[in-house]
Amino acid sequence: QTTEETFTFQAEVAQLLDLMAHSLYSNKEIFLRELISNASDAIDRLRFERFSHPELAEDGDDDPRIRVGYDRDAGTITISDNGIGMSRDEVIGNIGTIARSGTAEFLRNLSGDQRGDSALIGQFGVGFYSAFVVAERVVLTTRRAGAAAADGVRWSSDGRGEYTLESVERPERGTTIVLHLRDGEDELLNGHRLRTIVQRYSDHVSVPIVMPSEDADSTEETTVNQASALWARPKGELTEREYHDFYRHLSNDFTDPLAYVHAKVEGRYEYTLLLYVPSQAPYDLWVPQARRGMRLHVQRIFILEDSGQLMPAYLRFVRGVIDSSDLPLNVSREILQGSRAVDHIRSSAVKRVLRLLKDMAANEPEKYATFWRNFGAVLKEGIADDYANRDDIAELLRFTTTRSATQEADVSLRDYVGRMKEGQDKIYYLLAPTPAAASASPHLEVFREKGIEVLLLGEAVDNWVVTGLVQEFDGKRLQSVAQGVPDLGDLEDDAEKEAAEKAGTEFAPLLERLKAELDGQAHDVRVTTRLTTSPACIVGDEAITDLALAQRLRGS
Ligand code: ADP
Ligand code: MG
Repeated sequence: QTTEETFTFQAEVAQLLDLMAHSLYSNKEIFLRELISNASDAIDRLRFERFSHPELAEDGDDDPRIRVGYDRDAGTITISDNGIGMSRDEVIGNIGTIARSGTAEFLRNLSGDQRGDSALIGQFGVGFYSAFVVAERVVLTTRRAGAAAADGVRWSSDGRGEYTLESVERPERGTTIVLHLRDGEDELLNGHRLRTIVQRYSDHVSVPIVMPSEDADSTEETTVNQASALWARPKGELTEREYHDFYRHLSNDFTDPLAYVHAKVEGRYEYTLLLYVPSQAPYDLWVPQARRGMRLHVQRIFILEDSGQLMPAYLRFVRGVIDSSDLPLNVSREILQGSRAVDHIRSSAVKRVLRLLKDMAANEPEKYATFWRNFGAVLKEGIADDYANRDDIAELLRFTTTRSATQEADVSLRDYVGRMKEGQDKIYYLLAPTPAAASASPHLEVFREKGIEVLLLGEAVDNWVVTGLVQEFDGKRLQSVAQGVPDLGDLEDDAEKEAAEKAGTEFAPLLERLKAELDGQAHDVRVTTRLTTSPACIVGDEAITDLALAQRLRGS
C-alpha cells in the first residue's frame, strides 16, 4: 500500500544532471569515488552522533562497511553503507531539491575542460549527481539510524527533470544506491575494473570498502582499500606520491600540494600532524562560512572537521590531519574550545606551517611566489590577528614597490630594509585602492627623485597590515607618504630646506588667497618642493597619525 509521489528537480539541478550525463564522460569513473565518499561521510556522522545519542548504537551493527557489488545480468552496480542513513525530509533536502549553494557555484565555475570540471565535482558538493554519468536510472534506498524499519525511503530518478519518492520497509539502517547502467557501460560490470577504480580513488578512505570475492562459488568478501591512517605510518615508509594521493583524497583538490609537513610529537602532549599547503585556492577561500580544511582524529578515529579551533582564520587554506591521543573520543566542539591540549597543538601546528612557508620562501622562491599569489592576502590577516607570531608573519609578506618591474608582489620587508638609503630610518608606504593607482600618485614624486623605495599597498587587507605593523619592522617605523609632510629626516639636504623656506615667503600672498578660497574645505595650503611633475597634490591631516587612525578604525 505504498504510494509513489513525483517531484520536479529545480532548474539548476536539471541543468547539472544534463551536464553530468553529457560532458563529464571522459572521467566517468569518478562516480564511484563520489558515492564512496558519501558513504564514508555517512559512517563518520553516525559515529559522531552516537556520542550524544547512545541509543543509536542499540541496533547491534557495529561493523562499519562500504560494499561495492555488481550484477552483470541486471546491468547494475550497487554501493551500500551502514552509516547514518536519511529520513524522508533529508532525502528531499539533500538530494531532491537544491537549495544547496554548491550547485549554482559549480555551474558558474565550469570551464569546459572535462578533466578540470570533473575534479570540481567533489569540491562543490554535487558528487551524488555524478552517478548519472554512467547510469540511466539511479535508485537510492535509505533508512535513518534510530528510525523504525517501516520508515525506509526509496528515491528514484532517470535524471531527466523528475524523481519519485515512496516509503519502503528497510530493516537495516544506512543507504543503498543502485545504478542501472546506460547501454554501452558493460565494461564497468567487471570486478577487476571496479577494484582498480576503488584503489585509484578511494584507497585512503578510512572505512573498509569490501567487494565480493571473484570466485563465483565463494560467498567471501575482500577488503579492497588500504583503509589505513596514512599519517600514523612512519615518515620513512612513505613516498611523496603517497603523501600527494592522500592530499587529493583529503582536499578534493586535483592538483598536487605545494608543500607538506608530517610530524609525530611526543612529550607533554602526544599528537601527529600532517599539514599541506595547496597550490591553488579553493573557490570558497573568501566565503565566511566555508568548510575548513583540517580534520581532527583521536587515536586515528575521525572526530570532526575544524571550524576554527585547529587553525586560525588566516591559515584557513591549510589542509590536513591532526591526530591526538590526549583527547577523549567523545570530544565536542565545546570541549575543544577550552582544552589546553588543543591550544597547545594548535599553536604548534601554526608554528609548523609558518616554518614550512619560511623554508619555501628561502629555498624555493618560485613556489613561494605561487603561494603568495594564491594565499598572500589571507596570510596578511595574521599580522593583525596573531600577535604572538607577528614577526614571523611579517617576514613572509611580499609587496609591490616603486622598484618592482611588474605588479607582482615580490619584495619582502627584509629586502626593503636591506636597500634603504643612508640616513633613511622609516619604511615608506602608500595606501591606494589598487597598486596601479598607487604607482601613479603624485605623493611618490619626491621619493622617486631621491631613489627611495616606497611600498605600494592596494589590497583591502593592507590597511590592517600597516595597522598591525605600525610600530615597526626590524626597528623601523612604517610611515605613509600621503599623510602630513613626510619627514624625510636626514634624507633632506640643507639646500632643499632653504629653497622651501624661501618659496614659502615668496608665495605667501598666493597661499593666503588659496586658503581663503578653500576655507572650510582645506585645513591648510602649503608650498612644497616635493613635487617634480604634478603642480599640486592633496595630503591627509598629519595630526591623524597611523596609530590614531588605527585606533579609530578599531573603534577604541
Ligand atoms: P556532499 O557530499 O559534498 O555534501 P553530495 O552531492 O555528494 O554532496 O551529497 C549530497 C548530500 O546527500 C550529502 O551531503 C548527504 O547529506 C546526502 N547523502 C548522499 N549520500 C549519502 C549516504 N550514502 N548516506 C547518507 N547521506 C547521504
Ligand atoms: Mg559527496
